[in-house]
Amino acid sequence: MSGLISRLPQQVANQIAAGEVIQRPASVVKELVENAIDAQATHLQLFIRDAGRSLIKIIDNGIGIAPEDMELAFQRHATSKIKSIADLIKVATKGFRGEALASIASIAQVEMISKTQNHQLGTLLCIEGGEVIKKEFIAAENGTSIAVKNLFFNTPVRRNFLKSNHREQQYILDEIYRLAIPHCNIRFDVFENRQELLHLPIGTLKFRLRNIFGSKLKDNLLDIQSETQIAQINGYVLKPSLSKKRGNPQYFFVNKRYIKHPYLRHAILSAFEGLLPEKNQPGYFVFFEIPTNKIDVNIHPTKTEVKFEEVDHLYPILRSTIKHSLGIHQITPPMDFNQNPEFSAPYFHKDNTAVPPIVPIDPHYSPFKDTENKNADFQNRIPNNVSSHQREELNLIESIAYPKMFQLFPGYIFCGNESSFIIINQRRAHQRILFDQMCRRTQSKKISSQLLIFPMTISLSVQQTQALKQMHQTLSEIGFQHQVISNTLMEVTGAPVFCPMEKINFIITELLDKILDEASHQSQGGKEIMAKFLSKKLAVSNNRFLDEKEQKELVNDLFSCSEYVMSPFNKKILIRFEKDSLINKFE
Ligand code: ADP
Ligand code: MG
Repeated sequence: MSGLISRLPQQVANQIAAGEVIQRPASVVKELVENAIDAQATHLQLFIRDAGRSLIKIIDNGIGIAPEDMELAFQRHATSKIKSIADLIKVATKGFRGEALASIASIAQVEMISKTQNHQLGTLLCIEGGEVIKKEFIAAENGTSIAVKNLFFNTPVRRNFLKSNHREQQYILDEIYRLAIPHCNIRFDVFENRQELLHLPIGTLKFRLRNIFGSKLKDNLLDIQSETQIAQINGYVLKPSLSKKRGNPQYFFVNKRYIKHPYLRHAILSAFEGLLPEKNQPGYFVFFEIPTNKIDVNIHPTKTEVKFEEVDHLYPILRSTIKHSLGIHQITPPMDFNQNPEFSAPYFHKDNTAVPPIVPIDPHYSPFKDTENKNADFQNRIPNNVSSHQREELNLIESIAYPKMFQLFPGYIFCGNESSFIIINQRRAHQRILFDQMCRRTQSKKISSQLLIFPMTISLSVQQTQALKQMHQTLSEIGFQHQVISNTLMEVTGAPVFCPMEKINFIITELLDKILDEASHQSQGGKEIMAKFLSKKLAVSNNRFLDEKEQKELVNDLFSCSEYVMSPFNKKILIRFEKDSLINKFE
């Protein structure tokens, strides 16, 4: 049989290959920024529209492309960066495969204007789906401007595969950070839908990190440095006090190229051993300078793994470099290591006047008004697994007064009367109370927050600021009065009554990280995630005794919630015992 096999038309082959290199708008951004860096640009301007779906435009002031090379640049395997296989072992540029522009041009409408300093005029080249549709001379500045429009216009499947704009924008920012951090001698200006998203002037590495991650990070960097025959290592680790469960920056660069390396990451984790609370992650920016013949960069362009010849030696070197730095800065495990700050919040915030003067925004706010007209939506929160029989029984509990209350050990309140008694898990009860208060607040749009005498500024990363903008409304409804001051700074002017002053910073930054982690934050689910998160962080611990007044208040508040059997995390809040069943046990 013959005639079954045929060569794919070039255009189709390009589209398939493009899928490997260009998976999403962020991949285009990566490739174009890398090209500009390779072209020795010192200033890059990026314009993004609709998270890169409709436009990604990059203007650089690099060496430009000669008119006769313009079309060639868009052909597969056309590159100015290597000439032979031998060049591969000394490749210092980001690109060398000559694939990116060909791939991008096959799945988008591309307009490139470029001029070298040796030419009077620049050249404009328009390509659509891989076909050149226009080429002409044009007045232009030295450098290259490339606009990629309507990405995936001819591959709808891939377009549909993209995530929300917010997510895609995050991916883009991630790529930009990976390139901007090791190249602090290049200025980056990033605009999204005409708004400035990032402004990174030329400066030191510390300055760059501050501009991306906020000033809090800058003041908590410990420098690391070592020089051996295998590699030169330098960079920063974050002080252990800044460790977080998630979202801490973790960056490895080899010869200014971002890489991932689980094995070397482990070296860092082990250097931090004993210094971080359980499950917390350190933050780091580690730069390796390694002779190009000792690493294999000929990896797939979308992959970030790099093979080192002497990785087994590198592991202990990295570990001891970091240990040394932590040692110099005399960072030793804190004495009260097991004391989780989130557990030390007293339950009694209502009577707490630690932050005078308290100026309630809504002096007529009454939590009981809401409780009286529990709306239907709120009723729906009672979990389905509570049977109607149980419901009845529980309503009975509510109506019974429990005059006697005591704790035998921390965490559990015993309440009883002549015929029965219940045991309440204080932390879960408090979680339920806080959760319900927050849900009521976001539904009724009533704000109850205390104004701070001195507004508090919180340093954020650019990504956290983006998340903040998205959640502005809900956060205000919960009681965090705030405004965004810059791309890395927010100001808090008021906080909910149940949030202690000293926790505001921690709570907001953790919350933003959590939101960045959740994909579904734009919907109603976002409010619930937020209320759950805050109730978990702010609820009283089970490690402490409550005084009598606190116990009473907690029990009363619990029974004014429409749901008091299950916590927001679907865990039992209370257990009931009948006197009769107790008597039976003694028979
Ligand atoms: P690679 O970067 O692997 O060489 P690309 O497809 O990304 O492949 O680019 C092809 C060629 O086009 C590059 O080798 C370079 O000569 C030229 N080029 C691309 N972008 C620019 C730019 N911004 N400035 C100057 N030259 C560029
Ligand atoms: Mg390239």
